[in-house]
Amino acid sequence: MRIHVTYAGGTIGMVDSPGGLRPGADLEGWLRRQLDGIEASHTISVSALDPLIDSAEATPGDWQAIADDIRVHAPAADAFIVLHGTDTMAYTSSALSYALADLGRPVVLTGSQCPLGVVGSDASPNVTGALRAAMSGRAQGTTLFFGHLLLAGNRVTKTSSWAFNGFDSPAVPPLARTGGPWRWGGPPSPGTSWESPKPFTAHDVAVINVVPGMSGARLRAMLSPAPDAVVLRCFGVGNIPASQPGLVPALAALHEAGAPLVVASQCHQAEVVLGHYEAGGALAGLGAISAHDMTLEAVYAKTVFLLSQGLRGEEFAAWMNRSIAGELTAPQDGAHDHHGPARP
Ligand code: ASP
Repeated sequence: MRIHVTYAGGTIGMVDSPGGLRPGADLEGWLRRQLDGIEASHTISVSALDPLIDSAEATPGDWQAIADDIRVHAPAADAFIVLHGTDTMAYTSSALSYALADLGRPVVLTGSQCPLGVVGSDASPNVTGALRAAMSGRAQGTTLFFGHLLLAGNRVTKTSSWAFNGFDSPAVPPLARTGGPWRWGGPPSPGTSWESPKPFTAHDVAVINVVPGMSGARLRAMLSPAPDAVVLRCFGVGNIPASQPGLVPALAALHEAGAPLVVASQCHQAEVVLGHYEAGGALAGLGAISAHDMTLEAVYAKTVFLLSQGLRGEEFAAWMNRSIAGELTAPQDGAHDHHGPARP
């Protein structure tokens, strides 16, 4: 089994500096020492992105650089590991799940809360766990290994800034838990895939949290000038304070400008059902698109991905409602979402 490791940056390979933690550890040397003696050590290749980044700095261009590195090494590898900072790892793993949906080989992302040189660091168990997942023959698509769990890469969210079990997939169970032996769950959710995707390009996507008593004037100001798309993080199943003066007209103006409005929930575990309450019905009337049970990370990366593919209007909505790589659970036909756009 040939494994290619793409090192993108993150705490795992950082060292102390007067200005705080920054990339600088000899990660490749450390990795070689970790793998010394295991059966796959001589079939592992490593490349590093230049520059290495704190993942807080990651852009869609960096998602693309990682996807490109994987495609370049694809002819000579059976599985891939990406070493990445934890802050935006869930965004990158979601993005890669779409961009590499047609790869046909497993990609496992991991990182750590502590740098590799620290006694008691989680770097070693996370990297060896990711390696084991990649070599298992059971992992499919893009996954994320962290804190003894293998999770679907487009279902994850970072839940702790310090805990070693710092990621969760609120809408679906873990794919596997470590142990002797590992316990594997059911297969990941299906998706329709995406052949030969165009590269990620930069897009102005506004993510807005609705708050109690939000004024129409504030929302209108946040939407000026009109972004390429909006992810509106609403309450519960997709509710807004619709009776606040000017709030719905601000969203109507966005609709008229042709920018997709995707309705997500602020709940950690959610299923957006537009029109379930009167307070959310106004959104359905504006042609808003449900994020279903997608995480914010999955829906943000998907919005950028679909815009990068040149999709707008009905086509954008149809693909937002359709699973590309298992990122959403489609509601039962006709059970919810009476006012949303027709699912393909
Ligand atoms: N700021 C770091 C990063 O995301 C945090 C980490 O890796 O844990 O790159």
